[in-house]
Amino acid sequence: MAKTERIGVYPGTFDPTTNGHMDIIKRGARVLDRLVIGVAVNAGKGPLFSLDERVEMVRDEVATLKDPKIGEIEVKPFNSLLMQFAEAENADCILRGLRAVSDFDYEFQMAGMNARLNPDIEILFLMASERHQFIASRLVKEIAALGGDISSFVSATVARRVNERYGRLDLQAVNE
Ligand code: ADP
Repeated sequence: MAKTERIGVYPGTFDPTTNGHMDIIKRGARVLDRLVIGVAVNAGKGPLFSLDERVEMVRDEVATLKDPKIGEIEVKPFNSLLMQFAEAENADCILRGLRAVSDFDYEFQMAGMNARLNPDIEILFLMASERHQFIASRLVKEIAALGGDISSFVSATVARRVNERYGRLDLQAVNE
């Protein structure tokens, strides 16, 4: 029988999870039956949060989604090659978000290499929404480290976690 369930893998570092990531997750989950969010170990990026913390953070954010139109969403850590992870999940596609020009070079090259590794798994890009175009985990961390307000880029829960990590409990109290 033909396979009817459409499965996608959305990989990322999620250090931390931003409103931009959540927008891609919501939109992706609307067109897929099952979305597996793959949280990459990515030690090379020197993440602020451990793998377990990032998985928990994404899970907590996903738990707040209340859209009846979205398919099943699962959050899993992975340490393998992305294509191997996608194959193990029986994925039809890999989902990525694309912000203006900044992501294009990197994503274009990655998509080309991944297509060679397994041409049967499509790489799908969703354009970042206008409101989230400028949000990047790296900038969220830079702003928080210097005591800036990150509340319009991440959820209140994530903001608390990031501010705590930078020892900015004072700021948290002010924002509440
Ligand atoms: P990676 O290390 O794989 O780039 P990230 O967590 O930084 O991990 O990003 C994961 C995916 O989410 C990437 O496809 C990235 O382009 C996309 N993304 C990140 N921020 C945004 C945003 N503000 N809007 C749309 N997509 C985004």
